[in-house]
Amino acid sequence: MRIEAIRLIRPGHLLSARILDGNLIREQIYGELRQQIEELRRSGIRPGLAAVLVGRHPASKIYVKNKIAACEKLGLASWRLTPPDAVSTEQMLDLVDELNQRDDVDGILVQLPLPPQVNAKRVLEAVNPAKDVDGFHPSSLGRLVSGRPGLTPCTPAGVMEILRRSGITVEGANAVVLGRSDIVGKPMALLLMHANATVTICHSKTRNLPEVARRGEIVVAAMGRAAMVRPDWIRPGATVVDVGINRVTDPGEAQRLFANFPERLEEFRSKGSALVGDVHPDVAHVAGAMTPVPGGVGPLTIAMLMSNTVAAARLRRGTTPARPSGSAPEDRVAAEKVAKP
Ligand code: NAP
Repeated sequence: MRIEAIRLIRPGHLLSARILDGNLIREQIYGELRQQIEELRRSGIRPGLAAVLVGRHPASKIYVKNKIAACEKLGLASWRLTPPDAVSTEQMLDLVDELNQRDDVDGILVQLPLPPQVNAKRVLEAVNPAKDVDGFHPSSLGRLVSGRPGLTPCTPAGVMEILRRSGITVEGANAVVLGRSDIVGKPMALLLMHANATVTICHSKTRNLPEVARRGEIVVAAMGRAAMVRPDWIRPGATVVDVGINRVTDPGEAQRLFANFPERLEEFRSKGSALVGDVHPDVAHVAGAMTPVPGGVGPLTIAMLMSNTVAAARLRRGTTPARPSGSAPEDRVAAEKVAKP
């Protein structure tokens, strides 16, 4: 067992999983992006991201703030557009059209959820696919299905970066994806399949979920159900990637979740709340490797948004060959093979 894989959490208790630190991986990616951004700057190009935020959803405000802060950290141009809460679908379409036309905008991000009077699907479909840095446009998703060059949804792309950069073997592995949403579960399953895993997709109607999950050498949890994945769902030594973000405010629940993690319980007591994923923290006693919450997949989601914005700038301005959807550079050839009928 690798030395860094062993951490004592309480006398007599071993935390066996290698913790896959998303903050460290994000910094690696930022280092690589800085080089690309500098090259573009020398050619007179400054990639730019426009973020559209409607309404007062507190989490959305924080997400957009963090995305703009990441742009500033990397030296990308950014714009935060805040149409009024009562904005209509037509007005949103006009705004997207204006951003599509602007040459200084390489990426357009429409923060979800949109207010109920706005037809979110129409708005997302209006984004020019060349600027679709969230990868939510049907054209981007179609390209992902067929392995063609395109922009890949950020969270699943971030999960693939975690696996690749942590040396987790995906090819030939049994991978189980818990959740089938358009923005996480489905693209996640496609990316794992393109990387030659054998993929099982689970959802709310899946029978014997723990048993199906136990078949996974790689398990990606994206259900939005706090700590639902228990230690007995996980085959010993498996890699567990926890996409879920759930806020716990009930002291009794925190006590149960963090019974073996006194420092997390202490943090809960001082803040009055804590973030927990879809995976129970005790899974760390069974898994071989695991992403923490917070500090696992979350940082990668923003890193991949930055990566997509730089990629969109390069693709749109013809400074780089197109990269197959969701692939690492060295996977290009393989993915291009997939793209050809
Ligand atoms: P979502 O749209 O609500 O989809 C949840 C999926 O989980 C659905 O496919 C649903 O099945 C399935 N599911 C729900 N309850 C289940 C159960 N009891 N058993 C089995 N499957 C169940 O959620 P999402 O947008 O994909 O997000 C999932 C989680 O990831 C959330 O916690 C979200 O906050 C988090 N997230 C994190 C990041 C990040 O950057 N870390 C980014 C995006 C999302 P059905 O299809 O049958 O309903």
